[in-house]
Amino acid sequence: MLILGGTAEAREIAELLASQPYLRPVYSLAGRTSSPRLPKLPPDQLRRGGFGGAQALASYLINHRVAAVLDATHPFAAQISFHAASAAAQANIPIARFARPAWTPAPGHPWLCVADVDGAIDALCASDARAARVLLTHGTKQIDGFARCRGQRLWLRAVDRPVSALPPNMQLILDRGPFDLEAETRLMRDLAIDTLVTKNSGGDRGATKLRAANALGVQVIMVERPSLPAPSIQIDSVQSALAWALSLTAKPTVQPPVA
Ligand code: NAP
Repeated sequence: MLILGGTAEAREIAELLASQPYLRPVYSLAGRTSSPRLPKLPPDQLRRGGFGGAQALASYLINHRVAAVLDATHPFAAQISFHAASAAAQANIPIARFARPAWTPAPGHPWLCVADVDGAIDALCASDARAARVLLTHGTKQIDGFARCRGQRLWLRAVDRPVSALPPNMQLILDRGPFDLEAETRLMRDLAIDTLVTKNSGGDRGATKLRAANALGVQVIMVERPSLPAPSIQIDSVQSALAWALSLTAKPTVQPPVA
């Protein structure tokens, strides 16, 4: 089974499947961070880097006799999900997608939802935005546009330094989660943050920043998930991924001959 990874849950699933007889997961990752976390698998069950497009991924599936694909990439990694869906169809093998349930706002704490990072920048620049001190946790892509937010001080939290230079109004906090509620609360309080810009990655690990924002009355600008291909099989827990994988290994039952 090819597991397209890049999330904590993908690593958990890979390790769980590797512990089962009859299953041989291969975990694939392409770089977002310079030192990504990898599942504990033998080196020949780990691969790094892109395949070279959907057609090349289909060839990989066929040439390596992959039996099934589990797309457990980050919900904002849209391109690889489209490639995986197309490649699995070409190779005529099953595919499932693991997606963390999206976050929803707590009652009484509505978010300002935007379609993309540009939408978040527009919202910050709007004349009625009550945003002066902003924490950004949406990743390091598309940071140039924040130079437009001249009325705000911005802190970008990221695992790695962005490739492009920081706009003059932005400072970098290099740190890697997960962060507990206390740490998130302290950070927002120490910096007197009034606005959090984040993307709807979902999952428990990243939700503490939303709880801290709620408790401190920090407004939330939420970048919504991109649309992805609709998979025939959708999985939202590590255990369901195991159940799906095991169902593929189940031997067909032999029916007794009709008398
Ligand atoms: P993307 O835009 O959907 O994909 C860009 C290209 O990267 C794909 O076309 C593919 O290259 C390659 N790729 C992506 N994921 C791959 C994987 N698991 N194995 C092999 N190749 C892969 O992806 P992205 O947003 O740059 O994310 C890259 C990786 O970081 C993913 O594994 C994702 O799960 C992880 N990640 C992403 C985010 C995010 O916010 N986007 C956050 C955390 C982690 P080819 O076309 O050459 O095959």
